[in-house]
Amino acid sequence: MRPQSLTPLFAQVTSLPGIGPRLGKLVEKLAGPLVVDLLWHLPVAIIDRRNAPLVAEAKAGEVATITVTVGQHLVPHSPRQPYRVWCSDDSGRICLTFFNGREDYLRRLLPPGEVRVVSGKVEIYQGEVQMTHPNHVVPLDQRDSILRVEPVYGLTAGLPQKVVQKAVDAAVERAPDLQEWQDATYLARQHWPSWKSAFERAHAPAGEADLQPEHPARARLAFDELLASQLAIALVRHHNRILAGRSTEGDGRLRKRALASLPFDLTSSQESAIAEIAADLAKPERMVRLLQGDVGSGKTLVAFLAMLTAVESGAQAAMMAPTELLARQHFATIAPLADAAGVALALLTGRDGQRQKKATLNGLADGSIQLVVGTHALVQEEVEFADLALAVVDEQHRFGVHQRMALSSKSHAVDLLVMTATPIPRTLMLAAYGDLDVSKLTEKPAGRQPIDTRTLPLERIGEVVEAVGRMLAANARVYWVCPLIEESEEIDLANAEERYRLLSARFSGKVGLVHGRMKGPEREATMTAFAEGRLSILVATTVIEVGVDVPAATVMVIEHAERFGLAQLHQLRGRVGRDSAKSTCLLLYAQPLGETARARLAIMRETEDGFRIAEEDLRLRGAGELLGTRQSGLPDMRLADLAAHAELLQAARDDARLVIDRDPELTSPRGEALRALLYLFRRDDAVRTLRAG
Ligand code: ADP
Ligand code: MG
Repeated sequence: MRPQSLTPLFAQVTSLPGIGPRLGKLVEKLAGPLVVDLLWHLPVAIIDRRNAPLVAEAKAGEVATITVTVGQHLVPHSPRQPYRVWCSDDSGRICLTFFNGREDYLRRLLPPGEVRVVSGKVEIYQGEVQMTHPNHVVPLDQRDSILRVEPVYGLTAGLPQKVVQKAVDAAVERAPDLQEWQDATYLARQHWPSWKSAFERAHAPAGEADLQPEHPARARLAFDELLASQLAIALVRHHNRILAGRSTEGDGRLRKRALASLPFDLTSSQESAIAEIAADLAKPERMVRLLQGDVGSGKTLVAFLAMLTAVESGAQAAMMAPTELLARQHFATIAPLADAAGVALALLTGRDGQRQKKATLNGLADGSIQLVVGTHALVQEEVEFADLALAVVDEQHRFGVHQRMALSSKSHAVDLLVMTATPIPRTLMLAAYGDLDVSKLTEKPAGRQPIDTRTLPLERIGEVVEAVGRMLAANARVYWVCPLIEESEEIDLANAEERYRLLSARFSGKVGLVHGRMKGPEREATMTAFAEGRLSILVATTVIEVGVDVPAATVMVIEHAERFGLAQLHQLRGRVGRDSAKSTCLLLYAQPLGETARARLAIMRETEDGFRIAEEDLRLRGAGELLGTRQSGLPDMRLADLAAHAELLQAARDDARLVIDRDPELTSPRGEALRALLYLFRRDDAVRTLRAG
């Protein structure tokens, strides 16, 4: 139950004075549906109205608040002329100018002979002091209300600044005093105000410095948000962990056989990842571990060895891939190793024939099949395991937290290993997952050469085709990726088909085409032909991005590279350079290049380090955009800025960890206060993991 004290903040914005249904919709669009959302809508700028000169002292271009006596109204003869009101003080006269001014309204606002305080930007027009559309016109007794530093809020079309200011003021007024949820010592050390006064301060900035993320009021609010998020993640994780786990320990006999069949040695990051995972599996708690590494860094092998550990202990293991293509590829990678180890391995996808599917389901249910690789078909209800101990979920470039739970709930106490090829910058990692255990593969397998990456304008495509011709003569295999056009699969396809025709005309019989609309078997036939060298050029839409493994391919051509994100370019390039041969990546761009696109291409030329590229991507795009907050599982931050508040994020992580250690059910006085914090940031999901009370 949400604490009573928060009720006023969780009312609809339309409950605020001056916000009816029409403005309510706009406020909802701008900030959110509830009063608390307005509280979080912090000012983006200020206007200092404390400058109160005499008319004669007013300087052009400055904002001034001037006290005047209203004089004559000059009503225009034609609607194209402005409405003018002459006013004055002892030092001189000033003209207030209104375009499309309504006479009755202006006569009520500025009655001749009376004193008014006006505030706005001063202009000098034809030698006269002028103010066009003053922001404020008030009677003398309200002078103090405008003679101040005014907060300026971000707006949405149709919503005036004054309405938002008023609504925010009303929201701030409603904010209750809440029990302090922050650690007293930490709070004192930071010199931060209380929650309520932090809001009051943040909405009443006294100068530019008050808008900075480091300002104590803003920092405190950011920390509150980060703490709520870190605590919520930690609570959910803690809850999952104390659910019964199992200890899975193998004797190494199957792994030894599989490793003996490999023609290469493990890299040292593979070795340490394998050791970390084995240690987790052996623990009685549930494992949730992320295996992070660039495309081609050898994650599949690491995961497979973990799966064998489960089999050694007498249990089963499953690996789920996001696409049919990838599932088949993992299966192909793993099958010979499973053979060498003498373990029964099956493939389960949505496209299996009835008989085969039945056999697989039976084998999984009775335990005669020990390992399975598949697509989402694995989480269908009809799939039952005799004893599933480990679920591996390959998310490739995806970054989602939701679906994976489905597979681990297939059996009790399933350990979970998530593979991702997205090198996630450290800050985002922490924000999205909190203290998740991570194994990183930081090296490429031995003997790989750097990829020669070049950028060139699309006009030189003719030269590229010629160069490809020379490389084909030397038996190269080439990926040719066609332009990506957001939101139009059809145009993507048309482009790819045209490129296919063009290249086929030049390199007859050597070119294949794959795209997302193709039927599975047809696409696989083409892929196989390319993998086996019967085709030399594979024209593709971005379907190849998600995991195609053809080590013999050494050339990657990407058309309209400026339209791709950095992460995507990196993933695509990772399709080559997977063998000891020298690889080339040609990034073709359309001119003129925008500044960001230019920076992206420069980074691609400069480095192949996925973690570095991810950091640059974050810098170029900002956190939200990088991942698309909604689908990413990344919490939508309103007050915290992951770049500016990275240190606070660490502190929030540490604090959350301490709370979970000392008071995991949040029953202490601070714990009670923290529950309110969770509700405040709508983390009801985390509160639900707590015992009632
Ligand atoms: P990822 O899943 O990280 O993209 P893979 O597991 O598919 O990478 O590995 C890419 C290729 O590298 C595969 O062909 C795999 O057999 C090979 N490979 C894996 N580990 C090594 C290693 N230590 N040395 C050489 N080749 C390796
Ligand atoms: Mg792989």
